[in-house]
Amino acid sequence: MTSFQEDRYAFLTEWHDPTASLLRRYQLFFYPKDNSVEMFDLKYQRMFLRRTKYEDLHLEDLFLGNRVTVFSRQLKLIDYGDQFTANKLGSKIEKTFALVKPDVLNKIGDIFELIYSAKLIVTKAKMTTVTWSQAADFYVEHQSKPFFNNLIQFVTSGPVVAMELTGDEAMSIWRTLLGPADSAAARQEAPQSLRAKFGTDAIRNVCHGSESLAAAARELEFFFPSTVGHGPGNTAVCEDSTCCIIKPHAIAEGLTGKILNSIREARFKIAALQLFNIDYANAEEFYEIYKGVVTEYPGMVTELCSGPCIVLEIQGADIPKSFRELCGPSDPEIARLLRPNTLRGLYGKDKVRNAVHCTDLPEDSVLEVQYFFRILDG
Ligand code: ADP
Ligand code: MG
Repeated sequence: MTSFQEDRYAFLTEWHDPTASLLRRYQLFFYPKDNSVEMFDLKYQRMFLRRTKYEDLHLEDLFLGNRVTVFSRQLKLIDYGDQFTANKLGSKIEKTFALVKPDVLNKIGDIFELIYSAKLIVTKAKMTTVTWSQAADFYVEHQSKPFFNNLIQFVTSGPVVAMELTGDEAMSIWRTLLGPADSAAARQEAPQSLRAKFGTDAIRNVCHGSESLAAAARELEFFFPSTVGHGPGNTAVCEDSTCCIIKPHAIAEGLTGKILNSIREARFKIAALQLFNIDYANAEEFYEIYKGVVTEYPGMVTELCSGPCIVLEIQGADIPKSFRELCGPSDPEIARLLRPNTLRGLYGKDKVRNAVHCTDLPEDSVLEVQYFFRILDG
């Protein structure tokens, strides 16, 4: 029995119907009490899915812009469906800005692990470099400080990773994870913090975190401007490299940090890293060569656009062959039998959700890197 007191969240959602190549709109209802969902077809004005228990959807996934999977349909949450939902969920979710500083890029896996364990979601990420004047602009509030020149010198000394973190009170949670600005003070006052663990001193203190929501908005706009083609560019070199995609299911399962750590432990270099929300048409285009060749093609396309993926440009000795070996057989079941320590053996679920994509044909390696870092991030 539905009680009138029961909470019900409503969202306007869009689903790309691959067979009809159409965008369909549904009202999605979520009932946290018994974790059930219900869908209403907005065009035909009729019930599409009667209230049904669905354990794979959680309240934390319900925020605007996110994509959720409901009975294998990927729904994009485009608006709140009612005032209750807007009031209840709209105010709590924050976005903040994080910057991984140049000296700790080799700790990026551990940093992702910590972000995930704090229930924050990485909604944007880009490895980039900043010029002196961009850095001076970014840190303008510190321009009269004695350490200003050293700070700018430091953040321009190599690639950084800029991120947008989303979640309940994301801004203060991220600041708490960081700990005090001075790494030595962090080791005294907050020994579990990122700066205590990986920081060197007052200036080399692992990451930046926005100090207010206004600062977060300004800093996010700086690195992820709403006008396409502006802002610091990606670091891809598109030479002597191969492409790796951490698939949406692996990201949703919180495996990003572990996968990045495994790649680093195998001594590969990550030359570029960026989060992409790929749409259906681009996923089809990217996997074109598999069409009619592998039976999993439709599933692969659906998986790739089911949520954010993280694309890496990988460099290292004997690329691309050596990296394919780290990924292992494409079927995780086989990988677990034959090569259990490969990325697919460790983190894959099945043939489609096999944790990572890696380039199959050597001649396609650089082309795949270019597809993401030169064409999609044009
Ligand atoms: P936070 O990064 O915690 O917001 P601040 O905004 O005070 O810290 O400072 C910005 C950055 O400037 C710090 O992250 C650190 O890299 C550098 N910094 C701050 N204070 C000092 C200092 N006393 N000496 C050297 N560098 C500093
Ligand atoms: Mg600050």
